[in-house]
Amino acid sequence: MQLANLGGRATIVVGDRALDVEKASNGALGPDPAVLYDLANHAELRRLAGAATAADLPAYDEKQLGPVSPRAGKILGVALNYRGHAEESGMPIPEQPGIFAKFTSSLTGPYAPVVVPVGIDKVDFEAEVVVVIGRTLRAVEPADVWQNIAGVAAGQDVTDRKEQWRKPLNQFTFAKSYDTFSPCGPLMSTVDEFDDPDDIEVVGWVDDLEVQRGRTSDLIFSVPELVSWLSRYVTLEPGDLVFTGTPAGCGVRRTPRLYLEPGMTLTTQVAGVGTMRNPISR
Ligand code: ZN
Repeated sequence: MQLANLGGRATIVVGDRALDVEKASNGALGPDPAVLYDLANHAELRRLAGAATAADLPAYDEKQLGPVSPRAGKILGVALNYRGHAEESGMPIPEQPGIFAKFTSSLTGPYAPVVVPVGIDKVDFEAEVVVVIGRTLRAVEPADVWQNIAGVAAGQDVTDRKEQWRKPLNQFTFAKSYDTFSPCGPLMSTVDEFDDPDDIEVVGWVDDLEVQRGRTSDLIFSVPELVSWLSRYVTLEPGDLVFTGTPAGCGVRRTPRLYLEPGMTLTTQVAGVGTMRNPISR
C-alpha cells in the first residue's frame, strides 16, 4: 500500500489515482495525514484501498504532494551510516550510531524548491531512505522493529557544510534544519511492499549527474538496529521520522566539490517508493 500527504489530506495512492481517506471512510478516519502513520489504522486503510476501483478515482497532480509526516514530533538523522561514506569522510567505522536532529519546520514536499539562503554557498545533498515510526516504541528489540514501521519514504538531508563544521564547535542540527532542507516523499510505501526491507536502493542525481547510489544492506547500523538503539533513549511515536544515513558521493567529498546552486535540480529515488525532484532556488 502506498500512502500520501496530498494537499495536506490523508490519501491512499492506487496506481496513479488518489483515494481521499476521509471521503472513502465517510468521515470515520479524518483528513489529517497523521492517520496514515498510526499502524492501528492500517487494516482499515487496506480495506478502503481494496474496495476502491482505480478507474473511478481522480488522477492527482504530483506537485500537490506534501512531505510525508508533515508534523513529525521528531526527525532523527544518523551520521556516517554507510561504510563508503565513513571511508570517504576519513572517519573510523563508528561502534554506536552518531545521532542528530532535524527541525520539523525543515520538512518540505517532494517537488517543492529547496531554498539556499542568501550568502550561503556550501549547501550539500544527502540522498537517504527514511522510515516512519508507526507505534509508540520504547526499548524495542531489533527483531520487532519492522512490524512497528508505518512505511518507507525517500528523503534528502540537505546540509550547510560551512555551518556544520564552523569553529569552535561542530554542530549538525542547525546546519541540517534550514527551512526546506528536509524534502521527504513522494509517497510512503508500507513495509510489505518490499521484497527485503533491509536491502532498499537509494539513488541521487544533481541535474543529470548521478552522484550517489547505495543499498540499505550496506548500512553500518541496519534499520532494526538503529531504531532499537534510538528507542533505548527516546520514546518514538507514530509519525516520527528516521533518516537512515547517506551513501558515498556527497558534494563535499567530490573532486571538484559540488554544491547546490539556484537553477539546479536535485533528484532522489528510493526503489519501491518513487522519485522526488526538488528545484534549487534562492
Ligand atoms: Zn544524512
